[in-house]
Amino acid sequence: MNQLTLPVIEQFISLDGEGPTAGELAYFVRFNDCNLRCSWCDTVYSWDGTSPIVHKTPQEIYDDIKASGVKNVTLTGGEPLIQQNIIPLLQLLAEDSSLCIHIETNGAVDIAPVRAACPAENIHYILDYKLPTSAMESHMCMANLEQVTANDVYKFVIASEEDLARTIEIIKQYTLEETCQVFLSPVREQIDPLVIVEALKAHCMNNVRLQLQLHKILWPKEMRGV
Ligand code: SF4
Repeated sequence: MNQLTLPVIEQFISLDGEGPTAGELAYFVRFNDCNLRCSWCDTVYSWDGTSPIVHKTPQEIYDDIKASGVKNVTLTGGEPLIQQNIIPLLQLLAEDSSLCIHIETNGAVDIAPVRAACPAENIHYILDYKLPTSAMESHMCMANLEQVTANDVYKFVIASEEDLARTIEIIKQYTLEETCQVFLSPVREQIDPLVIVEALKAHCMNNVRLQLQLHKILWPKEMRGV
């Protein structure tokens, strides 16, 4: 196998479901494997070994993206930042200023070395902060909370009132309202989004957005490639 490849399990065009380009078309590249095991993971097939893997070079992935004609690119997983050849891919994508690249990362990988290797304006980090219900909070890279910029997003997937309280604590402690974009995404079956609205009002939180997960509204939970 070519050393300069990345393990891809899906490539498709869909609506960006979350983040600053939510509702716009995006070209998704989903990589194999993840370094976390969240209790509510909805992409288990990205790391449980059941999905066929296609090994692609950065150039092949870039060519696929360009052939699609879609300018928003979402690199997701699994976890994109644990991929051995993610930097060459990012460097190639970053050279094309017509592309807007979102790296959906789980918050457990330090983004600093990646940003240093590829300091491009058209690369945005969409970081999760895994909350207590995920059972993965102890894996969070806390340094990331101090490295994000207005170009980046911190996303909190909230599944309980404990998660909500921790979200508010983290946002305040790291002054995220001032440093980056913040999105709060309720797990619909587990917490009423209106509870989050009330919390935003009670804590007078500015620059923080409630975001309903579009994919879960538009498509069945088990559907892939959407
Ligand atoms: S980080 Fe994402 S892909 Fe990995 S286990 Fe958690 S939800 Fe699933």
